[in-house]
Amino acid sequence: MAEHESLEFGKADFVLLDSVSLDEFMANLKLRFEKGRIYSYIGEVVVSVNPYRAMNIYGRDTIEQYKGRELYERPPHLFAIADAAYKAMKRRNKDTCIVISGESGAGKTEASKYIMQYIAAITNPSQRAEVERVKNMLLKSNCVLEAFGNAKTNRNDNSSRFGKYMDINFDFKGDPIGGHINNYLLEKSRVIFQQEGERSFHSFYQVSEGLTTDIKKLFLFCQLFQTPDKSHQTCSSINDSADFKAVTDAMKVIGFTTEEIQTVYKILATILHLGNLKFGSDGDVTLIENSKLVSVLGDLLSTKDENVEKALLYRTVATGRDVIDKQHTHQEASYGRDALAKAIYERLFCWIVGRINDVIEVKNYDARVHGKNTVIGVLDIYGFEIFQNNSFEQFCINYCNEKLQQLFIQLVLKQEQEEYQREGIPWKHIDYFNNQIIVDLVEQQHKGIFAVLDEACMNVGKVTDEMFLQALNGKLAKHAHYTSRKLSPTDKNLEFDRDFRIRHYAGDVVYSVVGFIDKNKDTLFQDFKRLLYNSSNPVLKAMWPEGKLSITEVTKRPLTAATLFKNSMISLVENLASKEPYYVRCIKPNDVKSPLLFEHERCKHQVEYLGLLENVRVRRAGFANRQTYPRFLQRYKMISEFTWPNHDLPSDKEAVERLLQGCGFEHDVAYGKTKVFIRTPRTIFSLEEQRAEMV
Ligand code: ADP
Ligand code: MG
Repeated sequence: MAEHESLEFGKADFVLLDSVSLDEFMANLKLRFEKGRIYSYIGEVVVSVNPYRAMNIYGRDTIEQYKGRELYERPPHLFAIADAAYKAMKRRNKDTCIVISGESGAGKTEASKYIMQYIAAITNPSQRAEVERVKNMLLKSNCVLEAFGNAKTNRNDNSSRFGKYMDINFDFKGDPIGGHINNYLLEKSRVIFQQEGERSFHSFYQVSEGLTTDIKKLFLFCQLFQTPDKSHQTCSSINDSADFKAVTDAMKVIGFTTEEIQTVYKILATILHLGNLKFGSDGDVTLIENSKLVSVLGDLLSTKDENVEKALLYRTVATGRDVIDKQHTHQEASYGRDALAKAIYERLFCWIVGRINDVIEVKNYDARVHGKNTVIGVLDIYGFEIFQNNSFEQFCINYCNEKLQQLFIQLVLKQEQEEYQREGIPWKHIDYFNNQIIVDLVEQQHKGIFAVLDEACMNVGKVTDEMFLQALNGKLAKHAHYTSRKLSPTDKNLEFDRDFRIRHYAGDVVYSVVGFIDKNKDTLFQDFKRLLYNSSNPVLKAMWPEGKLSITEVTKRPLTAATLFKNSMISLVENLASKEPYYVRCIKPNDVKSPLLFEHERCKHQVEYLGLLENVRVRRAGFANRQTYPRFLQRYKMISEFTWPNHDLPSDKEAVERLLQGCGFEHDVAYGKTKVFIRTPRTIFSLEEQRAEMV
């Protein structure tokens, strides 16, 4: 008996449970975790539990075990699903994608890296130099993106603060020839504020620790801001100075020029100095208190000091035909400074992604000569978040998870059941919670929360967060998944008047409306854009093309953060839906990063909201494989005397029936109108073996 079938480690596939109940599911999950079996299947879905310790299961020898094998031939592993996606892509010319989901700290990013390593390891047997170059770039890009996009949070020392979707392109031989990265909503507010015990993005600490004192002087580095307590900055699981070296090397390998890398340092230093910049007032006049910083900023941004000062203190406004300089109030100036720090960092991040894309993008591929170039996409996006204080960012992140859950429902639960009905296969409907209602609550035109928010932001007069909340209460008072303090005054979980609550598929989340309007408008004064565009540093200038417009030319109101995010989510989901999906569902076993602890309630909650039990039910009642009759015959006709050499059979369907009867598989199949359905993968496996003997 193969190791993965031994009962000592529980059932490798939840589909094989004796009965499908939450208790049995949990008992099996726990047993496997305790035996060090962190991966299991639900059919083709991988369920993974974060081991919080180094596992010796990702080496060269393990890769060899999975290479080219079928999913069910080896114990469950990420490599098996990576191989399945790869095979589907190579054998059937299908674009595939691997969707990795789970909450923060569940192991998504680590999983995505192992999947990429596996794909890199099994491709390019002939060692073509160009393919090796591409693979190296794809792997190196992770290191750079993590430096600038990840941070220590209370949940995860290396938490991704952006969403990432990476396409890997393959040529007709199945070798990687390029890729493309899409990044989603960076949590830029972290640049100016971190919760107790958290850090800003790794990049800031890396340059502070990694640069020598001399070079630091050159780039006018200063103390980190907003971290008076130095203990927050250090973290035992992170080695900032070693990481600094690795990141700088990776940037060089990817092809960032010296000038570009230096500009990156200067931008980081700029942001740190902005954090120290203080405003004061003298009567009606707003002033910069530590005015020495102005010339530091002027140096770093390669622009005149007086331009910096003016952009920080004034705003150019067009009134009719006149253009005047209007002085900021103290509050406006502080707002502008913070917006500038956030915007520069976000722009830097997007620019880095863009530079990586320039390098990894497929070049010189002629589909007419080489055939279609196929794609494997890997999605590693922020998991569902419930914090002590949840704001606009959590709202967007949780909406993203609703969208992905909806896609999962569509693809795995709904389509599957609909197909059985269509094909006339006897089928007992399985109930599941369809979260479309929550997706609509957020994104619906006119009535959805994003629409109400955008409407509030379009208002010319001063609109406050409270007014936005009022508008929500008015529109959504009767919605089953929305409530607020005003609507449920006795609800103890709604502490403050500014709170509203959404019943997400993964649980209730209370959001505070404070900051929603500002974060959605995401205003950066035009003056800053012009300041940066007019820098004599060409790298910096290139990051701010819109600064080219003069005040009278700027007419269009930029899209709001919510609209941009919604659009990017809709196109992400469309993209994923056009590919053959493979799923990895990650579970976080405890909140203390312990390798030993399986917190029952925590895990149960995740199993429930990920819909894993419904997944098992549909899968058990269902069929692992389906093929149209002609396609099935084309592949397997040679293994049966009924179908090879060709006999005159009345129909393809009948031919398939005869073939399967002849092999003794009739108990494991069902015949639909146009397709044959095969219940267990083992049957397909056996058919494949017989075929291999014949050809
Ligand atoms: P997520 O991306 O879901 O927020 P990560 O992938 O960053 O979570 O994982 C959080 C931490 O958990 C990692 O930094 C690592 O310490 C640990 N971890 C996750 N997956 C594994 C694994 N397969 N083996 C060992 N440790 C892991
Ligand atoms: Mg992550």
